[in-house]
Amino acid sequence: MNKPRRRSRTSIEFAHTAATHVGRVRQSNQDAYGSIPDLCVLADGMGGHRGGEVAASLAVSTTLERFDGSSLGGLVRAVATANRIILERSLADEDLRGMGTTICAMAAVVGESGFDRLAVANVGDSRVYRHATGELTQVTEDHSLVADLVRAGELTHEEAARHPQRNILTRALGIEEDPIVDAWELLPLLGDRYLLCSDGLFNELNDSEILEILDRNEDSMATVNKLVDRAVDAGGHDNVTVLIADVVEAPKVEKEAWTLPPVRGEQASSAFASGLAGLTSFSWRPIALGVGFMGLVAAIFAGIGLYARSSWHVGEHNGDIAIFKGRPSGVLWFDPTVEEITGISILDLSEPQRNAVVDVLPVGSLEEGRELIERLQNSAN
Ligand code: MN
Repeated sequence: MNKPRRRSRTSIEFAHTAATHVGRVRQSNQDAYGSIPDLCVLADGMGGHRGGEVAASLAVSTTLERFDGSSLGGLVRAVATANRIILERSLADEDLRGMGTTICAMAAVVGESGFDRLAVANVGDSRVYRHATGELTQVTEDHSLVADLVRAGELTHEEAARHPQRNILTRALGIEEDPIVDAWELLPLLGDRYLLCSDGLFNELNDSEILEILDRNEDSMATVNKLVDRAVDAGGHDNVTVLIADVVEAPKVEKEAWTLPPVRGEQASSAFASGLAGLTSFSWRPIALGVGFMGLVAAIFAGIGLYARSSWHVGEHNGDIAIFKGRPSGVLWFDPTVEEITGISILDLSEPQRNAVVDVLPVGSLEEGRELIERLQNSAN
């Protein structure tokens, strides 16, 4: 297939290298990635059957096609278009209803200042990191329940990394009409290495393990393969995808700080209609912060804007706590089968816990279900 190849409008050039793996647990790979010379995109889909795959691949292909190569706003508009196309497809096809995806992207653009810049955008919890020897900096912020709780001081990074509800997103593409797209302009520096990845990487490897591999400064192919292999070896509970973008051409830079202040919380549909300034910033937060774990559980089911991308959940079966395997036919809608009945009565739980269990608690796996039940029991006593 011949695509018209756009000439980059900037003096920035990337070298892109990527690797992906289905992992050891999942049946299909619902991550997707792609690149053109001035843009790379990575997405992590959710939704039963084909849904996650379709959503992620639409996110990548639409963003690559629609990016007009102009500006940070152009990148945000391409992501917003991808959102609309995924949502339309989801509403038109019963089998795909409720599908969604994360997205993260990095492009070369002409910045607000008129100088060439890197543009980064994200929705969900796929990440963009910048690597310099001895240093790994997460550029993006995760739009997930646990990330919100970390920002609120409710959880530590370590607790968040192991939390059974870490797979709950607060934003995703394909779910609502106007998701907020976070976007940043960064200064391009020759030799910079950026890492885009799905949560299958950082849920298996912590930042220092990732850094240790990056610090070997091997060629990008060896590095992406090593990162993916390590994540699979460490458990491979999820699909894992890693994309490296090396900045191989960059303008001689003006003296300026490395990052510009992040431009956050732009409403995708109206973003940049009036330029970058003066737009209201929106950010959704769980309503029950500050009341500990059961507050967290309650927040999940206050739940507008929380997207479960797991097909397991803890719920109630004939009065007992049970773990179900479900086919998510839509966000938080399941067609479940009982996988494990615990013999623990829901009457042994406190009332808010009981309500939460009756409403079902999404988890990423059978193991996480067991872990969550243990936590429920411990906090009940
Ligand atoms: Mn994932």
